[in-house]
Amino acid sequence: MPVRTLSVVILLCGGVLSSAQTPAGTAAPPPIASFDLTAIDKTIDPCVDFYRYSCGNWMKNNPVPPDKSRWGRFDGLAEQNLYVLRDILVQAQAPGKHSPTEKKVGDYYAACMDEATVEKKGTAPLTPELARINSVQSKSDLVKQIAYMHQHAMPALFGFYSQPDMHDSNATIAYIDQGGITLPDRDYYIKDDAKSVETRQKYLEHVQKMFELAGDQPQVAAAEAKTVLAVETGLAQASMDRTERRDPKKRDHKMTVAEISAAAPNFDLVGYFASNGSPQFSTLNVGNPEFFKQVNAQLDSVSLADWKTYLRWKTINAHAQLLTKAFVEEDFQFNGKYMSGQKEQEPRWKRCVKSTDQALGMALGQLYVDKTFGPEGKERTLKMVKAIEKAMQQDIADLTWMSDTTKKQAYEKLNTIVNNIGYPDQWRDYSSVTIQSDDYAGNVARAGAFEIKRQYGKIDKPTDRKDWGMTPPTVNAYYRPPMNDINFPAGILQPPFYSVTMDDAVNYGAIGVVIGHELTHGFDDQGRKYDAQGNFRDWWTPEDGKEFEKRAGCTADEYSSFVAVKDDKGEVKLNGKLTLGENTADNGGLKLAYMALTEILGNTPVKPIDGYTPQQRFFLAYGQIWCQNVTDQEARKRALTDPHSPGQWRVNGAVQNSAAFQKAWGCKEGQPMVSANACRVW
Ligand SMILES: [Zn+2]
Repeated sequence: MPVRTLSVVILLCGGVLSSAQTPAGTAAPPPIASFDLTAIDKTIDPCVDFYRYSCGNWMKNNPVPPDKSRWGRFDGLAEQNLYVLRDILVQAQAPGKHSPTEKKVGDYYAACMDEATVEKKGTAPLTPELARINSVQSKSDLVKQIAYMHQHAMPALFGFYSQPDMHDSNATIAYIDQGGITLPDRDYYIKDDAKSVETRQKYLEHVQKMFELAGDQPQVAAAEAKTVLAVETGLAQASMDRTERRDPKKRDHKMTVAEISAAAPNFDLVGYFASNGSPQFSTLNVGNPEFFKQVNAQLDSVSLADWKTYLRWKTINAHAQLLTKAFVEEDFQFNGKYMSGQKEQEPRWKRCVKSTDQALGMALGQLYVDKTFGPEGKERTLKMVKAIEKAMQQDIADLTWMSDTTKKQAYEKLNTIVNNIGYPDQWRDYSSVTIQSDDYAGNVARAGAFEIKRQYGKIDKPTDRKDWGMTPPTVNAYYRPPMNDINFPAGILQPPFYSVTMDDAVNYGAIGVVIGHELTHGFDDQGRKYDAQGNFRDWWTPEDGKEFEKRAGCTADEYSSFVAVKDDKGEVKLNGKLTLGENTADNGGLKLAYMALTEILGNTPVKPIDGYTPQQRFFLAYGQIWCQNVTDQEARKRALTDPHSPGQWRVNGAVQNSAAFQKAWGCKEGQPMVSANACRVW
């Protein structure tokens, strides 16, 4: 049950502890090296394909495991964390004395692992939920049912959440926005190419099977699936596309409740707000007013019976992973196998660790941090952050295309950025969430409702800038435009990103570039539209704004020429506009971390290590962060939905624009890793 939280721009998307209680045959994988000489393919010329040079042998030796759709060194660290977390959870559920936090996460994990009880309960967790929908008698009841579902973390029809006011980031307000589709993007419903048509056919079959598992006859279920697809297609047609939504201006529509209610009367939003458990409010932001206007007509033209079918589907789908093997397996066949090319399901323990992290992540994270992350981890990272911020200050000063007026504002923004490292200052209090060791679906529902209540509780209150958007074990990082903060969970501050035993060149090439990447997000095509306080405000002179757009346009065109996937269904290129922010951050991050390293190295000559100069080790460490293999299906899905480029282009796209790279490796004009038209924003 995904919970809608603050939109963030993220990087992607440890210390291994042994335990006597590790189940036999599933020992943790060996630690990942920060710098892996065996990954390098020396038969490749680094100036021809640096990604293949850095990762070629790793790619040959590390096919995608059957329970994954993508496998990279990055994913390898996330996998290691699962083992660390499992040890914590297994100990927490074992008999003995435990803290309330241990007891809570231990019971949650135990309930998830107890497949026999889940199987015995069958569709019982679903029964009262479907009965609620069956009792809906009118379109006014329908709205109340949607309010109930949202309150219980079941997405349907549109989104409701809290976020800082775009023009006054110190105040958090209510938002409503487009939503309600099930496939990963609106394009799946709209496009007419062979693959999209096939996907819709497979989706129909999947929805039908799920209705059958919930107890409907095949013929009835087939008709219901068609209804679901028709309803969702209407919602998709009314939705803005992903690339358009990158522009904050398109999502900036503050309205009164009376205004949006008048624009879309069939939604009965007054009734919805009154019954969804949120505090009373009079103004809100409407992410996409056109969606509400268009769906307003659909609310009228689609019959009540069909809307009820749609809500039944959204309810069944939200429960798919919480029910019997038959549900879990069918959900996997479509979402895992067909959509992502994953050959088999992850073992249940991995799914249960992830589920615990999703439901009680700040409690589990607290135990994780106690076990793996000391205060010195925070110190070390902060030192690197400071060095890279200093590099950005210099980088801005050196820009020839930006006026002093805009530079002054840029410095202010840079100097206001808040650094959050490792874990939040205050741990979340889960004491009000009831967790039972024999009620997995109930636990998920209660934890989901708790999180929704917490998010709704922020409405019309001062913004809580201390609240984190990711849990501490997460192997990722993020920048939040309204908060103007960069965030590095403890999970990522380990090899291959950071190692105490490695030279500065390697650490700056890995976690250093990640830090520079997040910092650059504050100044990418989206981030630059927010000021130091996190308000959506244009602080650029018109000329400087044009110069920025020109440079960003170069990056967008460059990445649009890269091929994301080529298989029997055809070739898909990257969407340079969708991935613009991430590509800008990769290019900027690489430059800033290199500047910081150069400052540290100074003029003292440093001897090569393993035959590589520090400069070469810096770029190799960067390249190796992104060593990965991916299934064609996953690559295809990501080309449509992921704002990040695949590993190959995160590496080659950034280095072919880098003069420092070309110097370090002695690359010559005309070689593939020397772009004829090098793009540079930051
Ligand atoms: Zn990013």
